[in-house]
Amino acid sequence: MLTPVTSHRSGSTDLASLRLIVFGRQGAGKGTQAARLAAHYGIPHISTGDMLRAAAASGTEFGGRVKEIMDSGSLVSDEVMEGVVAERLGEPDAARGFLLDGYPRTPGQAEYLQTLLAPEGIDLAINLEVPEEVVVERITGRRVCVSCGTTYAVGRDASAGSGVCAKCGGSVVQREDDTEDAVRRRLALYASSTEPLLSWFRGHDLLLDVDGVGEPDAIAASLIAGIDDRVGSGPD
Ligand code: AMP
Repeated sequence: MLTPVTSHRSGSTDLASLRLIVFGRQGAGKGTQAARLAAHYGIPHISTGDMLRAAAASGTEFGGRVKEIMDSGSLVSDEVMEGVVAERLGEPDAARGFLLDGYPRTPGQAEYLQTLLAPEGIDLAINLEVPEEVVVERITGRRVCVSCGTTYAVGRDASAGSGVCAKCGGSVVQREDDTEDAVRRRLALYASSTEPLLSWFRGHDLLLDVDGVGEPDAIAASLIAGIDDRVGSGPD
């Protein structure tokens, strides 16, 4: 199906760029860890979910179509995603590397990404592992500020109960695609469309498995140690 386009740069510490992908079930803490990794390595965190949510909030006709698809827990088509990703990766800040979060999600998207990034390809894909039962509980208890995007957890953060964001005073709500029905549908899609991609990256020695259950600081530390071990210490 896919052919390798990248060489493994194990041990290198003078990378000109660092191209990472982070995989994980919805609710695995992927967004949080991706933001930390991007800051640590000085590369942009490119979340297709965030980009599509921004489009959905923009009030355009395109945004309206995207919102309907997202709210139902389905995937936006590969063709539409090609345009979104090609444009974003073509921006100047992505020239020295990036961390992709939420893309690729299907074999078609993985093939497209390879073509787009040829001949170098990506340096490493990360699999943040959290069991399905744990993520269902996490997602259905997740609340988000509509103004600044901060996320809160029911039973842990006061803002999730009060509905008022502790950071900016905005309203804190449940995302439409965080309801139980939508979550089950997204997890089934992840299993059928995205999980097969992990085998491909693993088969090409490009996958780093990291346990995503535990304290965020400890998980971030093992991610950084694992990445440094596999591809060096990031862009110089
Ligand atoms: P996320 O925040 O990554 O879970 O993405 C939220 C929603 O955006 C998904 O449930 C999809 O509807 C849509 N989405 C994000 N990334 C992609 C992608 N690579 N392909 C198709 N749809 C996507």
